[in-house]
Formats: sequence, structure tokens, C-alpha cells
Amino acid sequence: MRGRAVIAGGGLAGLTCAKLLVDAGWAVTVVEGLPYLGGRASTYRDADGDQVEQGLHLFLGAYSEFKALLASIGEPYDLVLFWMEQLQLQDTEGPAEAVFIINPKRSLMKTPEPLRSEPLFADLADLPVAPAISVQLWLDHEVVTHECFVLVGRSEACVYQDQSRNAYPTSEGSRLSVIVSPADGLLFASDEALVLRVLDSLAKVVPEIRDAQVRKSVVLKHPKHQVQPLPGAMSRRPVQATPVPNLFLAGDWTQVRQHQTSVSIPHAGEHLRSGPLHQWRGQRPPHPPPRARRVLPPRAAGARFVRAMTRE
Ligand SMILES: Cc1cc2nc3c(=O)[nH]c(=O)nc-3n(C[C@H](O)[C@H](O)[C@H](O)COP(=O)(O)OP(=O)(O)OC[C@H]3O[C@@H](n4cnc5c(N)ncnc54)[C@H](O)[C@@H]3O)c2cc1C
Repeated sequence: MRGRAVIAGGGLAGLTCAKLLVDAGWAVTVVEGLPYLGGRASTYRDADGDQVEQGLHLFLGAYSEFKALLASIGEPYDLVLFWMEQLQLQDTEGPAEAVFIINPKRSLMKTPEPLRSEPLFADLADLPVAPAISVQLWLDHEVVTHECFVLVGRSEACVYQDQSRNAYPTSEGSRLSVIVSPADGLLFASDEALVLRVLDSLAKVVPEIRDAQVRKSVVLKHPKHQVQPLPGAMSRRPVQATPVPNLFLAGDWTQVRQHQTSVSIPHAGEHLRSGPLHQWRGQRPPHPPPRARRVLPPRAAGARFVRAMTRE
């Protein structure tokens, strides 16, 4: 056994780190606060037996590290992901003028008291974060006639998809998954009010929804969904190495290649290989830890888009 590691958080980042460390011969303990693993990419079964996602997920074909991670755990991506050839853009006020890049989340854990005076951790407290809200709707009939993942311009309901056509086939009715973002002013709104707002917003691009009955809805709020892409904010995200020996950060809110997507998580493993794994053997990392840098837009993703089916 090489050593022992404790990982706080059983989301994609924590689980990826755990796998890499176990593969390298470490004894690993993952500490997770929720009764299930997967964090913001998780799915759970509710009291009715329905699967509920933390939020609709889209993975681009260019996410090679994520695909490699799936293959390495025996879940080839072609078996667990739905491939789509199209992504639709709609706009509440006419033709789309811009393409959104979905910039998911950040979930900072509480910084332990003795570390708060460290400049790295003090700076984290000031990172601007933005919330998102996931609304899942069970409708009495079909209102969307395609299975595309749709990005909507100038709308609170900025992303939606009919999931009854792929992830959750149903013999009757349909099921829409919708992301509300920006959601800054909506975190304290009631679930009922949010569902009404979503229906109202969607009706601007899917007028048929006005005639549908909502059989059931689930609203999930993610207060720290993403680091807000304000000027300078992205380059202020921390690198994985910290001034504290043997303490490393991971997650989509740190400096990763395709920032703020689950896809970038396996990239944290590269830092793990050059950081903790070497330090444990008393060596210096082969390269200095990466310095905060300006993050460039992801490379062109090609024509293929994919929606992920998250697993329980
Ligand atoms: C609504 C929504 C839509 C999204 N859409 C996309 C998308 O389309 N494409 C994409 O690539 N990504 C998307 N994402 C982002 C993706 O889900 C995240 O990038 C990824 O899941 C982040 O993984 P993580 O491990 O960094 O963080 P998390 O998943 O947040 O994991 C952190 C874990 O740590 C646990 N934890 C926190 N504090 C403590 C503590 N003190 N003690 C114990 N446990 C603790 C939490 O419970 C959680 O399980 C979306 C996210 C959301 C919420």
C-alpha cells in the first residue's frame, strides 16, 4: 500500500481521484455528506419510483478525458450516453444570435478555520458564484416533437429536453427537463411559482405547452451552480495544489481544461499524478503546479453532441 488518502466529496471529481489513487495502490476513504454518490451529476429515485436528475446534462463529443474515464471503469460511453447529431437553438424574440456554453457550477466546501488566513482560501470566498434551478415536469401528453437538447436565447428556461424520448421512455405523456439560469432572484421562490414561470417561459418557444396538464413536477435548486464568468473570475479559480502539504483541491470550480463541466473532472487526475502521487514518494513534482491562467474557450466540438444518462 502506497499510503492513505481521505477525499471529501463523492461527486465526479472525488470519485475520479479515488479511482486514480486506488489504481496507484493507495487506501482511500471517500466522505460524502449525501446518502448517494455522484454529486451534481447524480440521479436518485423518488417516492413514486421515478428517476430524478440533479439537472439535465449535455456532454460534447470532444470530452475525450471523460470518455476515457468511462471506458476505464467498464462503462463504454456508447453504452451509457445518448448520441445526438443535433443541438437546437431557439430564441423567444426571433432567430438566435448567440450560442450558450453551459457553465455548470461550483460547490465550495467550508474552509477549515486554520486555513482561512491562507491567501488561496481567503480569495476563494470572494469568487462570484451563480445558482441554477432544475425543473422536471411530467406532462399528460407530448408537446415537443423531437428529442433534441434545446438552448433558448433570452429566456429564464434556457435549456430543455423531452427525456421521455430517450433517457426515460414512457408509454403515456412526456417528461421535460428544464434548466433555469440565471436564477439569482429565484432561489427563494416556491416550487409552484417556479413551475409556473417555467411553463410561461417555455410557452414562448413551445406554445403547445399551454394545453398540457402538469401531472407532477420536481424542483431542485443548486445555489452554487457555477463560478460566474465575470471579468477575471475564471483565472482566479484555484489550481489543485495548495500551500498546505498533502492537501489538494479537485472539482469543476478549480482550474481545469474545459472549465465548469463535468467533462473536465478527469483532468484533475493529471494533477494528481504529478502532485500527490509524487510527493508521497518524497519527490518534487516533475513540473511546478500550474499557475492560474486565462482559460481559453474549448476547442471546436465537431458536429456530435451527447446527452448523458446519469446512473443511480
Ligand atoms: C443543473 C445542472 C446542470 C448541469 N449540466 C451539465 C452539462 O450539461 N454538462 C456538463 O458537463 N456538466 C453539467 N453540470 C455540471 C456537472 O454536474 C458538474 O461539473 C460535476 O458533477 C461536478 O462534479 P464535482 O465532483 O466537482 O462536484 P459535485 O458534483 O458538486 O460533488 C461534490 C460532492 O461533495 C459533497 N460535499 C460537499 N461538501 C461536503 C462536506 N462538507 N462533507 C461531505 N461531502 C460534501 C457534495 O454532497 C457532492 O456530492 C451540470 C450541473 C448541474 C447542477
